[in-house]
Amino acid sequence: MRAAHLTDSNGHSLRRKLLIGTGIALVCTAVLAAGVIMRSVEDYHRANQNLRGLESYRLILLAANLLSAERGPANSLLGDSGADREMLRERLAMFRARADASLDRLAAPSGPSVPADLLKAVKAQLLEGRQNVDRVAAMPRERRSVDDVEAAIESMVKVVDTFAPIVSWKARLLTAASPGLAGAVMTGKIFSDLREYGGRIGSQIMAPIAVGEPMRLKNFSDSNRTRGRIVQLWSLIETRSRVSEDPRVVQGLNDADTMFFGKGLAIVDGMIAEGRKSGAYTMTADEFTVRYVETLKPLELLRGAYLDSAVDRLTQISNHALVLLGATAGMTALILAILVSLMIAAQRIVFSPLMRARDAVISLAEDRPMVLRQDQPRASEMRRLFDAIDVLRGSLAERSSLVKQLKLQAETDSLTGLMNRRALDMIGESHAGSDGMADDACLVLMDIDHFKAINDRHGHLEGDLVLQETVRLIRPLLEENDLFARFGGEEFVILRPNRDVRTAADLAEQIRQVLEASEIALSNGVTLHVTASFGVASGNLGQLAWRRLIGAADAALYRAKSDGRNRVRQAQPAFPSLVPNLPDDAELAARPQRSTISR
Ligand code: GH3
Ligand code: MG
Ligand code: MG
Repeated sequence: MRAAHLTDSNGHSLRRKLLIGTGIALVCTAVLAAGVIMRSVEDYHRANQNLRGLESYRLILLAANLLSAERGPANSLLGDSGADREMLRERLAMFRARADASLDRLAAPSGPSVPADLLKAVKAQLLEGRQNVDRVAAMPRERRSVDDVEAAIESMVKVVDTFAPIVSWKARLLTAASPGLAGAVMTGKIFSDLREYGGRIGSQIMAPIAVGEPMRLKNFSDSNRTRGRIVQLWSLIETRSRVSEDPRVVQGLNDADTMFFGKGLAIVDGMIAEGRKSGAYTMTADEFTVRYVETLKPLELLRGAYLDSAVDRLTQISNHALVLLGATAGMTALILAILVSLMIAAQRIVFSPLMRARDAVISLAEDRPMVLRQDQPRASEMRRLFDAIDVLRGSLAERSSLVKQLKLQAETDSLTGLMNRRALDMIGESHAGSDGMADDACLVLMDIDHFKAINDRHGHLEGDLVLQETVRLIRPLLEENDLFARFGGEEFVILRPNRDVRTAADLAEQIRQVLEASEIALSNGVTLHVTASFGVASGNLGQLAWRRLIGAADAALYRAKSDGRNRVRQAQPAFPSLVPNLPDDAELAARPQRSTISR
């Protein structure tokens, strides 16, 4: 009972512990992984955000560039003498369309989402600038004054100045969200400014060229100041940008160096020199614009290359973050799967068989039928354990059968196959009615008459045969509950489990008659008649009562012998008056078989 209780509670508690342990390990792993995955997701998200931000910034700088570039064809038109007018108008219209398109893109919600008021200011200034350009360009060339042209050009320059807050707005946003982007943002802006200032130098000397007049002090002092700014910006940016590993940026820097700082500024110098001298220029406004704008291209390309390079770098970071995220999620899933399968394997390969082995051993210990399931454990160690339990079960079964055999041998008389004296005494002494069974019984003690003479006459072996035959003759006369034992030598006992001494005496008499009437054939051909004497008593079972009962039966047997043998005698009750129905010798003698008994 106790072991069965242990089986359940321990089995459950171990299983629960395994489950709880697994749960904790899974939760810990999941929490750990969630932290790493969340970091990866954040990294990926930030990289993506930076990428989108930088792409918007690139669009904004491109728009600024296109607004600067629109000045080129506008200047050409302002200096036009009439011959190329249509071609120049068309070119300007194309540049304007490009600039408008890029401004529209800035307002798109999928793009940089530039605040409407900032864009509105730019567009208003752009409209004003274009109107000025168109108005002056519509005048005949000889009526255009330097001031008219200059005012028109300046109002176009102002468009880019109005656009500057948009660049600053985006730069601020980007830097605030990701301080790491500050370098790229600043460098991009400087490259954009370089292009703007480069263009501005041309615009600042354009008005006298457009109208064919000598250059005024204001023209070259303005252009010189702008040139100073360019050189300053260039010295700031060039060294820093030279460290770039992107060949596009390096190429851009080299091209800008030779084209703009070499050729472009030389063209400007040449025009200024001509303008200061006479105002007789070797190039028309358009020729100057076309040649000069060509040298600005490397600055535009440089800005583009630099931002492309930065975007590529961010794309790489974003992709890397994505790969890392995938790898982390994959690894986590793998670890969790391994953990779960380890636990399942532990449960299936170790824990479950161990529990079965344990239950089997407990069953063996309690001598209960053992249940070993048919499916063999896969792990060799477990198989060995179950093999060992099987061997143990075999040994225990063998031992138990040996014990049974020994017990039988210890309690059986080998000659007659009857219960021996030892076993009879054990029953008689131990049976004290403690289990609710009746503790009273009748005892018939029987002794073969003159048996020694049989031995003496026919030999001991023939005597054995007589003993066996006597038992064979008695057996059929017994009831199911009667215990038949060899008491020793040629003495036998029949124990009948009730107090009705009359039936016991009747049984004794019946046996006596059967023996007397039977012939026993010896192996030497002689036939014998055997008689026996009987002592019958009734009493209780139990340690002391048993001895009393035997003593009483023995005394009665003694009387049977001394009365002449071949008869039945009943024990005299200690207080006969208390047992009125008990038949005494006299009553037995009065029965029909009396003559036999008393013979
Ligand atoms: P009584 O009528 O007074 O009982 O005379 P008895 O000869 O039967 O009694 P006694 O006690 O003098 O002799 C019993 C004999 O039984 C003695 C012994 O040799 C013999 N005996 C006891 N056990 C065995 C046995 O197992 N086999 C054989 N063959 N003889 C046995
Ligand atoms: Mg005897
Ligand atoms: Mg005898």
